[in-house]
Amino acid sequence: MCIFCRIIEGSAPGYVVYEDELTFAFLDINPISDGHTLIVTRAHVERVEDLPAQHSEALFRTLRRLLGPIQRAMGVPSTSIGVNNGREAGQLVPHVHVHVIPRSAAGKRVFTDAVARIKPRSPEYFSEIAAKIRGEVEATV
Ligand code: 5GP
Ligand code: ZN
Repeated sequence: MCIFCRIIEGSAPGYVVYEDELTFAFLDINPISDGHTLIVTRAHVERVEDLPAQHSEALFRTLRRLLGPIQRAMGVPSTSIGVNNGREAGQLVPHVHVHVIPRSAAGKRVFTDAVARIKPRSPEYFSEIAAKIRGEVEATV
């Protein structure tokens, strides 16, 4: 079972920020910026073009729903949104996931810049951010 499926079923730890019937969102363990979130389908599908319509629609709906809360929680005006679709594109986990990366004017230009991911983060760092985002999601229901 892939690591994202294990996070979804609860057998691997994850800092969950949102879940519904078809989708699931949690913090990236190696964030490009604070609040870097991954939105996934509950269904294990490797590539976007293979997602059943219902799942791709749900994924985009969740993306749209979480952007405001993530931006407010992190105090940033903008986000980079991206999918690495296939190994050659840099997809490391073979389970469709949308990266949501909070951006501020002070941030780096290239959002996939792996160099930004250098600092090990504590469990407290992740719990605090996940709680902030969940709070904003709940405030917008
Ligand atoms: P990809 O390169 O496949 O688009 O992105 C995979 C992402 O998953 C990376 O940003 C990486 O930091 C994240 N990731 C890999 N393993 C784990 C994990 O065990 N937990 C969490 N939360 N994120 C992970
Ligand atoms: Zn999976």
